[in-house]
Amino acid sequence: MDILKERKNQVATAASGSPLNLDCGKKSTAGAVSQRACVFCGSRVVLYPITDALHLIHGPVGCAAYTWDIRGSLSSGSEMYRLSFTTDLSENEVVFGGEKKLYKSLIELIDKHQPKAAFVYSTCIVGVIGDDVEAVCRRVSKEKGIDVLPVQSEGFNGTKKDGYKVACEALDKLVGTDNEAQLPDYSINILGDFNLAGELWMLTEYYKKMGVNINATITGDGRVDDIRKAHKASLNVVQCSGAMMHLAKLMKDKYDVPFMKVSYFGIEDMSDALYDVAHFFKSEELFKKAQLLVKEELGTLIPALAKYREALQGKKAAIYVGGAFKAISLVKALRLIGVQTAVVGSQTGNKEDYEVLKELCDEGTIIVDDSNPNELSQFVIQTNSDIFIGGVKERPIAYKLGLGFCDHNHERKEALAGYEGMLNFAKEIYATAMSPVWQFTRHHKMRSSVALDQTPVDSLPNSKE
Ligand code: SF4
Repeated sequence: MDILKERKNQVATAASGSPLNLDCGKKSTAGAVSQRACVFCGSRVVLYPITDALHLIHGPVGCAAYTWDIRGSLSSGSEMYRLSFTTDLSENEVVFGGEKKLYKSLIELIDKHQPKAAFVYSTCIVGVIGDDVEAVCRRVSKEKGIDVLPVQSEGFNGTKKDGYKVACEALDKLVGTDNEAQLPDYSINILGDFNLAGELWMLTEYYKKMGVNINATITGDGRVDDIRKAHKASLNVVQCSGAMMHLAKLMKDKYDVPFMKVSYFGIEDMSDALYDVAHFFKSEELFKKAQLLVKEELGTLIPALAKYREALQGKKAAIYVGGAFKAISLVKALRLIGVQTAVVGSQTGNKEDYEVLKELCDEGTIIVDDSNPNELSQFVIQTNSDIFIGGVKERPIAYKLGLGFCDHNHERKEALAGYEGMLNFAKEIYATAMSPVWQFTRHHKMRSSVALDQTPVDSLPNSKE
């Protein structure tokens, strides 16, 4: 197997009995062509779903292409977040500085769109020319009377995970700015759901049925005013913990708001997300309502899943996603529909996440951190995977190899969270994996021929070594 020697410790196979000890949480190896996105990308995926804020990218127009309606996040109100603004820095600003242009752009945009707050994203070139973005934001904030928040997200300045962190730090400046609000009992904030294809609305409906009040949704279908009073809630329920855990910890330290990690993908995790909230409030009533809701949902879902489970039995999946917590839920959800996970990896997982994956996966599953197209292609071929689950950068890998692809990324248009989402997921995996088109592709022919000139999977390092 063709793996760069610097990356050997970031790939392993699951084996029982000893820890995986995967090397992770470090900068991508130069030349490895990592699938990871830049710091700016990490920050904008977290902040962009705040619908009534102005999002201005201070940088060249190319960075702004990243933002052009790229997320499937939906809004129940303002559509301002879908506009893509940039200061469009060019040679002139690179030589003489971009602060004047940033100031002018902010004034013009705030006058025109009257946002509740503004986020200003620094890109690579801003880090190089050294514009004082904070000073410009402070000045505009004073003049216009709204929060203008700098997001120090120079693309080269770390990994996508660092982008999550700077986004959380920008949010931290908003939280706590409304101290007047009084919230009802059982009030929670939902952190780390981005309302892709309206998923958040399904989840909030479940919680409301239980009798839980949703205060701020950070950041899917997010509102600046709700975020301001987020510190008044009794609990932060954190999905996508890689992205939002930093904010949850900051709120715990500053305002003593406790947090819990959840996932809304798959039946088990979705149900636990409801029960755990009921347990937190120590309310028998909430717990009973959660039980009733789960019973009703499963009553229709389990029979509906049966035919997909039967048809998909024995199929193998490769998973490569941004956060490892999502990967964990996906392994469980796939198992529920009879699909075995042969490869699983993430861009931002930590040691603890990978140990959970090792415990969860079948012996021999390849587990990988911060992978690249070359490795992923090899893993898919070596394991004879039938379907690839990933995001925008994994889609071409799957199609070039000639196997089905399921989009689990932030631009998807299909809701995959919650009970309804579990059924959508089963339908999508079934439709993709079982499509007759794959019999005409290279991957299928290679699989049939057995004569693969590759090192066998079992020659990878495993957790016993
Ligand atoms: S790496 Fe730098 S130049 Fe490229 S998109 Fe990110 S911020 Fe922009």
